[in-house]
Amino acid sequence: MKYRTILLFGAPGAGKGTQGKILGTIPNFFHCACGDVFRNLTIESGIGRTFMDYSSRGELVPDQPTIDLWRQSIEGNTQTGRFHPDRDTLVLDGIPRNVHQAEMLRDTLNVVGIFYLRSKNIDNLVHRMQRRAIKENRLDDASLDVIKRRLKTYEKDTKPVLNFYGRKLVHRVDADQTPAKVLVDILKHIVKV
Ligand code: ADP
Repeated sequence: MKYRTILLFGAPGAGKGTQGKILGTIPNFFHCACGDVFRNLTIESGIGRTFMDYSSRGELVPDQPTIDLWRQSIEGNTQTGRFHPDRDTLVLDGIPRNVHQAEMLRDTLNVVGIFYLRSKNIDNLVHRMQRRAIKENRLDDASLDVIKRRLKTYEKDTKPVLNFYGRKLVHRVDADQTPAKVLVDILKHIVKV
């Protein structure tokens, strides 16, 4: 059975996590942020160390351990009754992060809509990440060099995922608005998908 899925798409700092957390509180929606799955690991685990190595450089974690970990997390949430694949829509944030990951998840996800949070203002993205560095204690948000590397990785590796799924599924949302307005735009479409 494939998971009925909505993707939150956009550059680092575009607000995917903020929106995903809110959407996850609506009955029959389950939010899963891949970055949070990684951040919940302990540094003692092999994959936790791998995450620290790659994320501190602003690079993506290799695909196979990422997909394996994500599957484990979703299966854990299913077994514990937090996620009900038969009735819930999965709201994914941060995965798939490149075309290869999208291919690896082809038989797992039934993507019914993509919300593309677009920011025209790179400074907005950078400022949001820098604020988050202190608030959420995120090392990868603390250095401007790492932030720039992540924005480059997004342009090069992540953006092509939009074409993989096809433009018909994509709903563009202006990410430079206030979080409340972004939410309204998403909700207007989400009830239709
Ligand atoms: P952001 O979108 O702000 O970069 P995330 O929490 O989504 O924040 O990701 C933080 C870091 O976690 C990424 O820079 C990357 O190193 C790692 N990561 C998260 N999701 C993935 C993924 N699907 N594939 C590979 N690496 C990932």
